[in-house]
Amino acid sequence: MALLDSILQKCTSITHIKQLHAHIITTGLFQIHPSRTKLLEFCSISAVGNLDYAAEIFRRIQNPVTNDWNALIRGLAQSEQPKKALQCYLTMSRWPQKPDPLTCSFALKACARVLAFFEAKEIHAQFQKLGFDSDVRLQTTLIDVYVKSGDLDGAHQLFDEMPLRDIATWNALISGLAQGSRPKDALALFRRTLRERVKPNDITVVGALSACSQLGALSEGKFIHSYLKDAAMESNVRVCNALIDMYAKCGSINGALEVFHNMVTRTLVSWNTIIMGLAMHGRGSDALEIFDQMGRAGVKPDQVTYLSALCACNHSGLVEEGLRIFNNMVGSDVSPNIKHYGCIVDILGRAGRLEEAYIVINSIPMDPDPVLWQSLLGACKTYGNVGLAERASEKLAEMGSNSCGDYVLMSNVYAADQRWDDVGRVREEMKSRDVRKVPGFSFIELKGVIHKFVNGDHSHMNSKEIYGMLDEIRIRVKGLGYVPNTAFVLHDIGEEEKENALVYHSEKLAVAYGLISSDGGDPIRVIKNLRICGDCHVVFKMVSKIYGREIMVRDRARYHHFKDGSCSCGDFW
Ligand code: ZN
Ligand code: ZN
Repeated sequence: MALLDSILQKCTSITHIKQLHAHIITTGLFQIHPSRTKLLEFCSISAVGNLDYAAEIFRRIQNPVTNDWNALIRGLAQSEQPKKALQCYLTMSRWPQKPDPLTCSFALKACARVLAFFEAKEIHAQFQKLGFDSDVRLQTTLIDVYVKSGDLDGAHQLFDEMPLRDIATWNALISGLAQGSRPKDALALFRRTLRERVKPNDITVVGALSACSQLGALSEGKFIHSYLKDAAMESNVRVCNALIDMYAKCGSINGALEVFHNMVTRTLVSWNTIIMGLAMHGRGSDALEIFDQMGRAGVKPDQVTYLSALCACNHSGLVEEGLRIFNNMVGSDVSPNIKHYGCIVDILGRAGRLEEAYIVINSIPMDPDPVLWQSLLGACKTYGNVGLAERASEKLAEMGSNSCGDYVLMSNVYAADQRWDDVGRVREEMKSRDVRKVPGFSFIELKGVIHKFVNGDHSHMNSKEIYGMLDEIRIRVKGLGYVPNTAFVLHDIGEEEKENALVYHSEKLAVAYGLISSDGGDPIRVIKNLRICGDCHVVFKMVSKIYGREIMVRDRARYHHFKDGSCSCGDFW
């Protein structure tokens, strides 16, 4: 066998494999000798081999043993057609040879790739019957299938039932929960890892930090950071990158900078993450400084870097810098994609250079995304350009975009021009179509507990106090000259409908809760899934002054830091 191994090492083409195959047949060893299993395995999974020929070898075996089946199923599971592995597994069940844990594991890997959830359950039932329950690797692969198929509860249940787990198991579930929009559960599981004294590895930690980023859970993120210092995992590059992302997304850009500056080795991801972080926080010139530093350090920017730098220009109104970076990019070997074009359209639109933005959209070499026309429409609203707004809105209709934001914007463009008939017409059209609405929600973390609010939420246990606080806010902001209603419709940038005006937006509920549940000191940190609306923006500026509290809202696009009556975005978002 050792000899065969060394011969296989030297095989560099399918011809070699065929020669070896012929040799094993002529020596009469093919039907009985384990060397054919070796050959089959090599042909099935190595880069030199090929699956059709492996199937050919397999067909000639009169009595395949389990390892022969495994060799073929494994190869198929990794191939371009993982479904065939499942067919093969099914065929095997009609033969006398029983699958072993390896067979099940290869078949489950195929399930994970094609999201064959039903088949995975069958295999699960089968290996329970065969008594492989205690096989940790098998269970972990199964958890992976459940996670990928989106059955996170099933995955969790399986996890709880496992008599033994290794780290890979925790990883599969923690990253699965974090990526599957279940960040709260991911964090709870991470805490359990520590309680059960399982040492997490970098994948687990990255999963947990990503959960913190999603939730804006700064104190939890800081706790993980201090754990990493104790566990001497602080120098791991992937972990550091996740820390930068976590600090930036949880509102502490200084925390992110500190991690970034302390890193001994940085990867492209480190640079990209910090530039994007600074961009989101409206620190455009700092972001560009790091972008230049990166060039001086000889790190070649990629599409993400350029996008981050352009976002930085966009959020800080750095028009000329943005155009310069974009032109540099066009001249480099990194080609701009639709997002880069989107950024440049936005930069021009916000600066009131509407015609130029229009020319850019029309010159894009790929199909323009509706988002580009939407951003032009938004700019037309700001600068009162009815003609161009109508053209953008026609384009959106042509493209089949049916977003409520488009209608709201268009009706606001007409309203600003006092064309009330047109306002009415747009509103009617909006009602007659089934316009898509994205439900808004916000998170706030207080004393390590995450609270989630939806628009008009009454389900929180302190709901009564929250609404009491909102009444108080309403009275006090009026005292500062706040005018609700009509003025605000014009400010509404559109993702949430006008009717929502009468209902409190989720971010207002979260901020009100923040005000009654914490005193002074730390800023109130809120995360919102959509863009913050114009009215909430006005109110938060006033609240920051009236109550002397800093408020930070991370919305879909960027960070807003409200302090002493103004916002870090300079009302520019
Ligand atoms: Zn609002
Ligand atoms: Zn703002």
